[in-house]
Amino acid sequence: MIPKTLAVLLGSLPFALTAGAAEKPTLIVAISVDQFSAGIFDQYRDHYKAGLRRMIDAGVVFPNGYQSHAATETCPGHSTLLTGKHPTGTGIIANEWLGPGPKPTYCVSDPSVTVPGRPEAPRGPANLRASTLGEWMKARNPASRVIAVSGKDRAAINMSGHGPDAVFWWDDELGFNTYVPPGADANQRLEPVAAVNETIAKRWDKKLPVWKPLDASCKRLDSEGIYGGSLHVNHHVPPDWRLAKADQPYRSDKAFKRWVRASPIVDELTLDLATSLLNRFQLGRSSAPDLLAISLSATDYIGHRYGNEGPEMCDQMAHLDQRLGAFFEKLDATKVRYVVVLTADHGGLDAAERVRLKGFPAQRMDKDVAKEVNEYLRGSDLHLGTDAFEYVSYGLYFLRSQNLTADQRQTISDSTVRFLNQQPWVTRAFPKAEILKVKIRPGVPPDEMTLEERFAESVDAERSADILIAFKPYTTMDPVDADGFYIAEHGTPWNYDRRVPIVFWRPGHPGYEQYLPIETVDIAPTLAALVDVPHPPVDGRCIDLDSSAGNTCETTGNAF
Ligand SMILES: [Zn+2]
Repeated sequence: MIPKTLAVLLGSLPFALTAGAAEKPTLIVAISVDQFSAGIFDQYRDHYKAGLRRMIDAGVVFPNGYQSHAATETCPGHSTLLTGKHPTGTGIIANEWLGPGPKPTYCVSDPSVTVPGRPEAPRGPANLRASTLGEWMKARNPASRVIAVSGKDRAAINMSGHGPDAVFWWDDELGFNTYVPPGADANQRLEPVAAVNETIAKRWDKKLPVWKPLDASCKRLDSEGIYGGSLHVNHHVPPDWRLAKADQPYRSDKAFKRWVRASPIVDELTLDLATSLLNRFQLGRSSAPDLLAISLSATDYIGHRYGNEGPEMCDQMAHLDQRLGAFFEKLDATKVRYVVVLTADHGGLDAAERVRLKGFPAQRMDKDVAKEVNEYLRGSDLHLGTDAFEYVSYGLYFLRSQNLTADQRQTISDSTVRFLNQQPWVTRAFPKAEILKVKIRPGVPPDEMTLEERFAESVDAERSADILIAFKPYTTMDPVDADGFYIAEHGTPWNYDRRVPIVFWRPGHPGYEQYLPIETVDIAPTLAALVDVPHPPVDGRCIDLDSSAGNTCETTGNAF
């Protein structure tokens, strides 16, 4: 606190206030690296030379950040980053959930908007129940701009929240795309990406050059592990060019698109677009602070496709570092006062076979959990004639076609939970009703939360499954995805999926490192304080980024 006499004195000197205001950043750059586990961050830390090197050497580094909830999927994870709330508060409790109709609801499905070229798949923020940092900034100063770009719709939409100025994500067929609110003009909304998409399409048709691996030391990882005899598909080799039909642009080839997704190219395209938008919108050039949210998806696609302990992830780390370095140089060139936060939506686990080679009890289990449970129920003395459950996003939903009384449901649920808890692939199964009653102990460090508390941070009475399951650690679904393209995954309540790096970097300000855990819900209030923007109640807390006597959490204290 400033002594009263000094405060009076400072108040009489206008330059003192002006100097303070001048230090506030005019641009917040929030970067999510999809599936960037703290384990991978630690493992490659000494190898970073460019963007990540700058952030680590000069930033405020929390190597033990937490997406502290149980449902460690992309949509819930991104929903915590700039809302300051756990998924229970954002409503985004999984990538998809069952209801209100018979088909699973995608977390960013939004029938109130349209997506050009995708009439069957409207995507927007309708399911997000919390406000974001960008919304708080706009409430404080309507001149603030909020822009988001990502390889994935669910990342860009959850980071930008409601009513952003621009939001773009990568669509395999259409290039970068967006959603159009009612009454808005689609061409106008897509105008900022038109030139970028055209350049990409031309490059594709000319047959994209194959990039070179950046880090020769990655070769040492080349001989480990086998999955179906083909764990080591070398991602530097694109699918056979000859697969493309002569009369068809190469970019329409399915194998090619998949290869592009699980390669560093997706990040390159996303950062190129971010740079283009930075210049186009002149971000950070006015006194009203702007927000540029970026989610880089390649690390996630590569982790799923090749696992995260092989040469592909090693090389991706080199590409990510180099690309971020080039992007920061572009930011430097603008001369605006920017602040960067970098984190992840969740961690990840390597391919089970390679994990097992290293002595961990990793296993694959049949993804058809519902089949196993429904068969058990049919054979039990409950005499169920039809299937009772459907499995979606780590939980079992009572099928709505079931005409059951509350008592019958309770009996079936109890029996199913008992059955699950006896299975070798289950650590604990919980009825939703039990998790909804959990009181999370205030102030408990995220690495010391109980399993029940982790689930309680990502549960919703309406959207969550009726039975929530914590599978045994190191368990991977088989297959991970419907068409068998992926071999590794995330989504569990275990720390390899929950622990992520959180790095704040304010160029020109000294940093520090703190190993004590913080949470991704702390990011939004921390950034809001830096730009002196009030916010509604959140689950996280402001982290003081000043290692000395100053305190970046001290603001003017205006109520929201
Ligand atoms: Zn993700």
